[in-house]
Amino acid sequence: MNFTVAIVGRPNVGKSRLFNRLAGKRISIVHDMPGVTRDVITRDLDDGYTLMDTGGMGLVEGMSDTPGKIVNAVEGQIDFSIDAADLVLFVVDGREGLMALDKQMAERLRRGDKRVILVVNKVDTETTAIKDKEFYRYGFGEPHLVSAEHGRGMSTLRKAVLKLRDEIVGPPQEPEDDGKKVLKVCFIGRPNVGKSSLSNCLVQSDRFIVSDVPGTTRDSIEMPFVWKSKRGEDWHFMLTDTAGIRKQTKLNSSVEYFSRVRSLDAIRDVDVVFMVIDAKEGPTNQDKAIAGEATKANKPVVIVVNKWDLALKAWEDEEIDGFDSEAKFREAFEKGIHRELFFVPGSPVRFVSAKEGIDVEKILLSARQLNKRQGRKIPTGRLNNKLYKMAERLPAPKKDGRRFRIYYAVHTGNYPYRFKIFCNQAKKLGDSYKRFLLKGLVEEFELDGCPMVFDLVNKK
Ligand code: GDP
Ligand code: GDP
Repeated sequence: MNFTVAIVGRPNVGKSRLFNRLAGKRISIVHDMPGVTRDVITRDLDDGYTLMDTGGMGLVEGMSDTPGKIVNAVEGQIDFSIDAADLVLFVVDGREGLMALDKQMAERLRRGDKRVILVVNKVDTETTAIKDKEFYRYGFGEPHLVSAEHGRGMSTLRKAVLKLRDEIVGPPQEPEDDGKKVLKVCFIGRPNVGKSSLSNCLVQSDRFIVSDVPGTTRDSIEMPFVWKSKRGEDWHFMLTDTAGIRKQTKLNSSVEYFSRVRSLDAIRDVDVVFMVIDAKEGPTNQDKAIAGEATKANKPVVIVVNKWDLALKAWEDEEIDGFDSEAKFREAFEKGIHRELFFVPGSPVRFVSAKEGIDVEKILLSARQLNKRQGRKIPTGRLNNKLYKMAERLPAPKKDGRRFRIYYAVHTGNYPYRFKIFCNQAKKLGDSYKRFLLKGLVEEFELDGCPMVFDLVNKK
């Protein structure tokens, strides 16, 4: 669970100084270019939470803003922080005392549902007179008297933040060990690509141990098994709705329609999908439709190119030319698949032969890797820096005169990855820009083959 702490306060109370202090480094968070706002600045701290400064929101660095504009901006910052953060550090200036704007902010924070720590800054020495005892009346608990400039009161403040984190979301946890997890898998694909043969190939292997009696749930058949890997590990699986078991049903049905629908039923329930493609035919239009369903269901896909024995033979017989090694032939094949079928970037492609029993263990290995890869925690600061850099390099195209813009994003879930994205206009995110973002995140966090869901939240 990510924990985000927002620093809010009117201009000049010392938010940037405090941010740098807590982040433990003298990082310059001055905007790179004058006149450009970097709305929200985030850093992942070693303490295991994310610090966020919204001080730039709604204001343009280096420009003199009117008091009215400042009030609007600050109110926007507060609303945003209440939405996006788990804890708010409300900073006021101990030497100046409370200004009207501080009071307005306090009211807004009190109406929000987030925990607040009141930080009275610029209390540089023991004897610094605190101008306003009103600080105590806000109901935010005992105020923390600090000096961001000199580091006074920082360790107490840090401890208070960690204590509240543990109260609100619990202490950080180690990722779950998936060793014993039973992975649900299924084979999907057009008729005759080899789904039954692959299932049988698994079942007949001496590494396949039926771990339980196969059962029927609703209209799918489930076959639990343990695979003894070559390295001696036990891998637990549940093969759902295997084509092998249901061969008769298939023969009785109006072939294509039924096989499609059956795939859809199976997809919903599984952790990883094996999408089987016939090596001799390459990806066809029907493959595209089936692949699209897996993608729509946000399931990770292992692409299984079956009948590779036939493709290899054709290559050896020089029916296929232009490749001077099998590796190059494979590479070209793989590229073609990724071009034709809209999968998540980096979906693994495995070349197998059910007939000759080649590389079947590898598809199970890929399924396990893919599943494990979906369980990571994505640090908020790095996530936002990446999104920011991508937007800087390639801003979203304008739609009806406005551009889609991201203010802030946070990782909220796994299996599949979910990201809550605060943006200016959710409806303006087009498909191709969405793919661009997805690709960037896959690269940055090495999430090859992991589907992602973006939950967009509109902010003015
Ligand atoms: P922000 O606009 O809230 O981000 O405020 P800054 O961090 O930019 O600080 C505004 C001014 O207050 C700067 O000149 C800082 O040097 C000064 N300042 C910040 N913290 C302290 C502090 O603890 N003591 C004193 N004396 N000055 C401070
Ligand atoms: P399904 O309809 O997807 O379940 O496909 P099947 O498993 O019934 O296979 C269709 C046909 O392809 C059968 O005649 C299989 O013998 C053949 N077949 C399956 N896998 C392979 C393979 O790896 N190599 C070759 N040469 N033939 C295969």
